[in-house]
Amino acid sequence: MKYSSAKTPIHSVTLAELQERFQEMGQPAYRAKQVLEWLYAKRAGSFAAMSNLPAALREHLDAAFGFEVPELVRKTGSEDTTQKFLFKLADASLIETVLIPASPALYGEGSDRRTLCVSSQVGCAYGCKFCASGLSGFSRHLHAGEIIDQFLRVEDLSGERVNNIVFMGMGEPLANFDNFLRAVTILNAPWGIGLGARHMTVSTSGLAPQIRALAAQPLQIRLAVSLHGATDAVRDQIMPVNRKYPLAELLDACDEYCRRKSQRITLEFILIEGINDSLEQAAEMGKIARRLEAKINCIPYNPVEGLQWKRPSLRRQEAFMAALERTGADATIRREKGGDIDAACGQLRLQVSREEN
Ligand code: SAH
Ligand code: SF4
Repeated sequence: MKYSSAKTPIHSVTLAELQERFQEMGQPAYRAKQVLEWLYAKRAGSFAAMSNLPAALREHLDAAFGFEVPELVRKTGSEDTTQKFLFKLADASLIETVLIPASPALYGEGSDRRTLCVSSQVGCAYGCKFCASGLSGFSRHLHAGEIIDQFLRVEDLSGERVNNIVFMGMGEPLANFDNFLRAVTILNAPWGIGLGARHMTVSTSGLAPQIRALAAQPLQIRLAVSLHGATDAVRDQIMPVNRKYPLAELLDACDEYCRRKSQRITLEFILIEGINDSLEQAAEMGKIARRLEAKINCIPYNPVEGLQWKRPSLRRQEAFMAALERTGADATIRREKGGDIDAACGQLRLQVSREEN
């Protein structure tokens, strides 16, 4: 990975790498653990703050590694609703991070789940026709530190402790595979954030080879697949990725993931009027979910300014859900309140870049 500055971002570094570096410098190995404790347990914002390290070492670290604190450009939402953070990175790229605080409406009474939705790329190359992130094209991958920084910054700004993370923000995480895996490693590690892999979900538009590659990894990350169409005809119309990895190939990869991880995956289905909301699609979708023993998560489409797609009427949504249930599939529909703020990732950035132009 090439970084925008000559310094390696400190939040991209693993324990093993830091230990190796310290060994080369003739420093004792325990120093690496000390540095990571400052970073993740004590949330230090500079090497200068690491008071139990020798001054010369702190200076050396400062010369070799960078702290890149993403700048908050805008925040929408309030403490008890979904909060969206728009961050400016070191190279002035804009990304979005969303915090969904404990929400009985979403997770059920008594749940203390606080979910963070992170971006994995600046823009997205996959160009799904309905998506704001794909609209302005792809700029670059995020490095692992930029993913970790979203977590650290939002915890710091909100005062909340995040206990669940979803890779459902801007970008296609599995197209940025190495940085994604590195970030997951740091999030999961006892020397890092210490979040259980089962509390992390990656969403993909359907990159079959990368789903297989992830299946071969030991971490029990949850998988969500953005299906949005139960046939190639429908997927081809709205998701260009389907021409590369058609449904049969994608579903085989999903099968492999379920088998190797002994895990139930989630199939995401955004309901778009006149595109995928027919009763035939519901019936086909039910078959797919039963074959994979997957859960289906239906989400009424969030209209994007400048795009023609619409959310189906409540009646049509209900008819679709009833048809799905008749197949015996395990399906839920997510209708959270405050749709304006809950607008899908990519929309806030789009809005700000339009204001600037
Ligand atoms: N690239 C990955 C992850 C980011 S998108 C993927 O596509 O899965 C996260 C989810 O938001 C995906 O299911 C995506 O299809 C959905 N999404 C994108 N635009 C949306 C919109 N306007 N309304 C509702 N969901 C949307
Ligand atoms: Fe990219 Fe996902 Fe949006 Fe498709 S839905 S353009 S893959 S971010």
